[in-house]
Amino acid sequence: MRAAVDRERRHAAEQAHTGTHIVHAALHQILGPEATQRGSFNKAGYLRFDFAWGEGLSAATKSEIEEVSNIAIRNNFRVDTKVMGLAEAKALGAMALFGENYGSEVRVVEIDGAWSRELCGGTHVANTSLIGACRCSASNPWVRETAA
Ligand SMILES: [Zn+2]
Repeated sequence: MRAAVDRERRHAAEQAHTGTHIVHAALHQILGPEATQRGSFNKAGYLRFDFAWGEGLSAATKSEIEEVSNIAIRNNFRVDTKVMGLAEAKALGAMALFGENYGSEVRVVEIDGAWSRELCGGTHVANTSLIGACRCSASNPWVRETAA
């Protein structure tokens, strides 16, 4: 059997995936912890972030989310992964996906330590500046990410 990883595609997937964590953290900072992720869709150069919120976001709120996300990207935050017990992760305030079941050992992805801490098994960029830039592109909570 042969296996190959398409480097370009993999990198683009990592950008979109880490971008999802950044948008999630930005939403928490701006809207509060009630802005909980319900799902997401990633593909190269694009991410959609679904979350439960009672109303559409104003243009001002969207540009704030964009700004917080892009500041995090420009700050070139380090992305680290750690394996720890679920209780420890919860004590550290790691965000978990709604309705998801986790084992007793979990993988935590941190962006600049506590800036973003989320349970996740996916692949990520090593530093946030590798994402490029992030732009909100629709009136519903949709976010489009563009690689630089
Ligand atoms: Zn993730």
